[in-house]
Amino acid sequence: MSYANEDVLEKVKDQMDIVQLVGEYVHLKKSGSNHIGLCPFHNEKTPSFTVSESKQIFHCFGCGEGGDGISFVMKKENLDFVDALKFLADKYGIPWDENPDRDDSREKSNLYNINKEAARYFYNNLLNNKKPREYLAKRGITGEIARKFGLGYATDKWDGLIKHLLEKGFTEDEMVKAGLAGIRKDGSGYFDKFRNRVIFPIIDTRSRVIGFGGRVLDHNLPKYLNSPDTMVFNKGYHLYGLNLLAGNTDRRRILLVEGYMDVISLYAGGVNYAVASLGTALTSNQGKLLKRYGDEVLICYDRDRAGIKATLRAIDVLRELEVDPKVVVLPEGMDPDDFIRENGQSGFQKKVNTALTYVDFKVYILKDQYDIEESKGKIDFTKEVARIIRDMKSPVEQDVYIEKIASQTGVSREAIEHEVRGGQKTQKRFKERIRFEPTITKLPPAHLKAEMDLIGFILMDREYFERISSRIQYEDFQDMDCRFCYRIISDSYEKSDTIDKEALREELSQDQESGEKFNGILNHQPRFQASNWERVIEDLIRTIRHNKLISEKSLILEEMGKLEKSGEDQERFLELLGNIDELNRKINSLVSREEIN
Ligand SMILES: [Zn+2]
Repeated sequence: MSYANEDVLEKVKDQMDIVQLVGEYVHLKKSGSNHIGLCPFHNEKTPSFTVSESKQIFHCFGCGEGGDGISFVMKKENLDFVDALKFLADKYGIPWDENPDRDDSREKSNLYNINKEAARYFYNNLLNNKKPREYLAKRGITGEIARKFGLGYATDKWDGLIKHLLEKGFTEDEMVKAGLAGIRKDGSGYFDKFRNRVIFPIIDTRSRVIGFGGRVLDHNLPKYLNSPDTMVFNKGYHLYGLNLLAGNTDRRRILLVEGYMDVISLYAGGVNYAVASLGTALTSNQGKLLKRYGDEVLICYDRDRAGIKATLRAIDVLRELEVDPKVVVLPEGMDPDDFIRENGQSGFQKKVNTALTYVDFKVYILKDQYDIEESKGKIDFTKEVARIIRDMKSPVEQDVYIEKIASQTGVSREAIEHEVRGGQKTQKRFKERIRFEPTITKLPPAHLKAEMDLIGFILMDREYFERISSRIQYEDFQDMDCRFCYRIISDSYEKSDTIDKEALREELSQDQESGEKFNGILNHQPRFQASNWERVIEDLIRTIRHNKLISEKSLILEEMGKLEKSGEDQERFLELLGNIDELNRKINSLVSREEIN
């Protein structure tokens, strides 16, 4: 394969998300850390076809087919390798050059070579100079760690590197192109860009040195200096430390930190899944790398103004990619580097285990920004919070958060709910449904029957529907398929007075995933006598509300259990305790058949 094609191959691999790609051919469902579906290469009724997002591969346990995204396209589209690559390049808008410019690729490989030689030179400097070694030792970085990261040192000479590279046969022009040398203002010659700095080579996942970062040893400015973007280095496409993380077999977690030293100190302290963006705000392409390399994405930036802003921005970038990041919150004024040196691996692990969901983090920040004691502040706060909740996938989860935030802030549940639901569109119902993730997989049979009974009622008569819909909302249904049926039927009642059951059955049984279940729900008939329908419906509603409260309670108990184990955040624990009391009160009054809201 030509150099140019190799370049395209790399870009395709960067852009490709195998779950999304295969998802265009196969209906995939998340299952644990993988996605599963019916194999497109052999006939099967139960799914044995697995796609791994973190490994970017697929495998069928039924027929043994397997490979990466490119081999998937080769098989599915019946193409050879080069044509499959063309197909994907086209798909992702990557230009395909039929006559690759040979100079271009020669220049690139030259850049890799010059960077490699420079890294060697810096590394030898570190071995021969006490000052930077002491600086690193003070930060707990041993010779072994320095070697692992290829750390180096640029002396304070103006031409140390230039002389070395000239000896190795590189030209000054090449050094300038690699960002290693600059041209003197008066045009009289060249100078080393990196001087008197500890050097952090930036290495890609194919073990090539693509650029450098340098940090001063004293208080000079700038504190950090990075290579400029070159033909082989585009800051927005790389993460520092990814080369080491990519070698890990267990890629459960990936932790985004601010700086080189954070990555290295964490690694030295036994946390080997940290990466840093390279002196820029997180880009979408970096977000894609985080998504690919870790099942769980955590952010741990400083807690100062700039750090918070960067965290919020990173959350937005990741949410765009359908990643729900968590935020590791360290004590004020500490970065991961300080923290792990003081508290060790177990201390840091504790912080990771109690990381905030991105929603909790945003609410926590918003609470600081608005004065919710004052009515204007309260309104603005509620609006902002509603925007966050509206963006959440699962209605059950939305509900839990509405409750949680109401009790945390004193803003009424109704006010938040109104803001959240007010902005929600009912149109995209099919799309939304696919994104529902049931939080409870197994419902007690009595509960499921109650939900099916209610749907049976509303299918029968508009009067029943009016009664039920005035007492219950679609989010009250815990079974996702029942909830979906309920929504579809209420939508139909909005358009006309009667329901065309046949058309409905026709529509719903088409659904690949739940068609059979829908059929069961629509055919289910509640048993009751005409004289007591009101009481029967009331009982069913009570059953459903009861179950909803119970599941809210179990989510809170779970969070409390975690807090108890970690022994942290007493305040939050007490707050949850309060929530539990309130829930117990509601549950009791339901059971004793009192009316509650
Ligand atoms: Zn198969």
